[in-house]
Amino acid sequence: MIESSKVNVIYGKDAVLNSSTLIRSLADKFLIVCGKSSARLCGALDDVIEALGDKEYVIYDRIRENPEVSSLLEASKLLDDVGCVIGIGGGSPLDAAKVIACLKYNRAETEEELYSQKWENERLPLILIGTTAGTGSEVTKVAVLSRANGRKSSIHHDRFYADYALCDPKYTYSLPHQIAVSTAVDALTHCNEGYFSNKATDKSREYSLKGIRLLLEGLRSMDDLDEEKRDTLYRGSLYGGLTIDITGTTFAHNVGYYLTENFHIPHGFACAIFQEDLFDFEIQNNKEYSERFFDQIGVSKDEYTKLINSLIPDYGISLDEETLQSILPRWQDNGSVKNTYGKMTVDDIEKILRKKFMTE
Ligand code: NAP
Ligand code: ZN
Repeated sequence: MIESSKVNVIYGKDAVLNSSTLIRSLADKFLIVCGKSSARLCGALDDVIEALGDKEYVIYDRIRENPEVSSLLEASKLLDDVGCVIGIGGGSPLDAAKVIACLKYNRAETEEELYSQKWENERLPLILIGTTAGTGSEVTKVAVLSRANGRKSSIHHDRFYADYALCDPKYTYSLPHQIAVSTAVDALTHCNEGYFSNKATDKSREYSLKGIRLLLEGLRSMDDLDEEKRDTLYRGSLYGGLTIDITGTTFAHNVGYYLTENFHIPHGFACAIFQEDLFDFEIQNNKEYSERFFDQIGVSKDEYTKLINSLIPDYGISLDEETLQSILPRWQDNGSVKNTYGKMTVDDIEKILRKKFMTE
């Protein structure tokens, strides 16, 4: 149903249990990488353990939100006799699992060594099992990690494509409402930003529009999320992943990282805060392209923005002049800013931050 040219996507009810023979064929010992509690809570960990039967496994369950490089290095110490890595979780454990699977034959002892890796050697077989309808990390070659200085930084490599994404939307049913909203909004931002990326292609626009149509179905009725709507959101999130895997994200994601790092705003909301600014920039600079976007999704810019903004809690963020001047250089030569459709510069980021977070 969901096709990726890079990852074997096995989608549907009981995808994990039904893939038991396949999973068991990959190794004699497995490393399961997950967060503190969600893998257990949503039933995915039990399903994996059942699917593994009498195979050996070890669990590393210390991956936190916005995963720290240090935790990946710690997990890599468990790899000695492991032959396959299984990531279970939202984007954080999945991104961590991608890198951990590579670390067995591409050793790194420190953050610097990890970031300077060329990932030239093969990696262990890798299975990803998503539990949020959000990042679409299951189908991307991206891993977003947090460095020791608190800065989020993404790495992209073909080796980070999983061998298999086992996608069962039932694992998302246990998401608390607020996380369901934040992660679904993240997926929507992937579709929006992919459309307004300088790397957009006909294929990525097709994914983006499919994703938006599905996500809007769910997001319009977030107060009443039944299982069918959660399934729809999950499919939408995978299209979001397929989109950004081609296009990357725009300034909104990168400036969103700053909000997550400094105001602890969940990733999805942090990026959603800047969607209106993205649309305004595009309407001003690429009017026809923007009009085509809103025609195709069948919603006006005002209606779309109103819906997105209505889902974001009010964080009351404010910036002072000194802080603004100290943070602007990070977007001076930034890939995500340059990737924003048209010609965005750090001056545009300054205008956006002033308008949003400063009184004058
Ligand atoms: P997450 O950070 O993986 O998890 C957020 C919270 O949700 C955690 O507390 C987690 O608990 C909980 N949770 C996850 N699944 C659950 C479930 N089914 N039931 C109950 N609770 C659940 O969330 P995320 O938004 O999916 O991932 C965000 C990360 O992905 C960020 O670092 C972001 O930068 C990155 N990202 C990656 C890509 C990519 O392509 N690779 C794209 C966009 C964003 P536990 O801690 O117990 O697991
Ligand atoms: Zn995102």
